[in-house]
Amino acid sequence: MVTRSSMPPYEEFVERIKPLWDTRWLTNMGKYHDELEQALKDYLQVPYVSLMVNGHMALEMVIQAMNFPEGSEVITTPFTFVSTTHAIVRNRLEPVFCDIKPEDYTIDEEQIESLITEKTVAIVPVHVYGNICNVEQIREIAYRYGLKVIYDACHAFGEAYQGKGIGTFGDASVFSFHATKVYNTIEGGAVTFSDEALYEKLYNLKNFGIRGEEWVVSVGANAKMNEFSAIMGLCNLSGISQNIRLRKEKAERYQSLLCDVHGLKLPKFEIGGAVRNYGYFPVQFADGKTRDRVYDDLRRHNIFSRKYFYPLTSEASCFKRKYTGLALPNARKVSESILVLPLYPELGDGDIGRIAEIVREFVGM
Ligand SMILES: *Cc1c(COP(=O)(O)O)cnc(C)c1O
Repeated sequence: MVTRSSMPPYEEFVERIKPLWDTRWLTNMGKYHDELEQALKDYLQVPYVSLMVNGHMALEMVIQAMNFPEGSEVITTPFTFVSTTHAIVRNRLEPVFCDIKPEDYTIDEEQIESLITEKTVAIVPVHVYGNICNVEQIREIAYRYGLKVIYDACHAFGEAYQGKGIGTFGDASVFSFHATKVYNTIEGGAVTFSDEALYEKLYNLKNFGIRGEEWVVSVGANAKMNEFSAIMGLCNLSGISQNIRLRKEKAERYQSLLCDVHGLKLPKFEIGGAVRNYGYFPVQFADGKTRDRVYDDLRRHNIFSRKYFYPLTSEASCFKRKYTGLALPNARKVSESILVLPLYPELGDGDIGRIAEIVREFVGM
């Protein structure tokens, strides 16, 4: 499989959930919820963390917390998981798709300005595959036009840039702790930010606006993280540095086996000033035909790579061809020719060798 969920030793998890059978406090901002919020604040090097039931609701809630007028425009990338786009649309906002850069697949900051109109209120970029967006230039554009910036940092858990936690950039950043991500709480997510007032707003949004037994201050949803997830998160946090270290080793093994393949673009992890998490190993082929052939052949060998992200979110059938006329040449090309190879801490060297062999076999054809 393309990934494999990280889990703590069984005994450790069982030991840590035991107290729940005495307290019977299973959710609603319990002891472990608060403990995890503190622990993540330290680990992610951010001023505030608000835990959520999953990454998608974290995105939806933080966009809602910004209180944009209905129909406002949000500049974003189509080269992402559909969640990013859905969170914008479900807030009754209009996604405006910006092309990506062919080098690192993040939003092309040079094209953002030309998409700004009087209805634009925010930019929602994605640190796709953990590749860090041009945070300086995005900050500068946002400042000049008075726009909010909300980073989808779901791929960037534990990363840092210029000595700062990746979650400190923009007005807020969103993380996913889904089972398939570098760090998981089974299902879970978080918003990180520096504006204290946002903590209160998110708290109300994720807990029905309830502030006391007889006191409901606003209309909110339910997006709280439960205690079992929080304990899973505390356990997995102890293993995170080992997890990332092993991922780095596996990624380097792929690099050494594939670096001489002509016409194959490998991920670049060593970027000046960046701490990376080695969450994904995307390889880009010269064309879509080769990508599809490799994908199929890997499948025949019971190896399940993924065409992340194909199709582009702007082309999802739910949007009924509304955005298909947009000029997004880079995003389209990358989406058709990229493949994410299996990468997880326990992936065997023999498996990496077999996968690399299959990739090499097809690229020459
Ligand atoms: C996983 C992911 C999400 C959604 O997170 P969930 O925890 O699965 O709800 C959003 N955006 C990106 C880029 C993701 O990879």
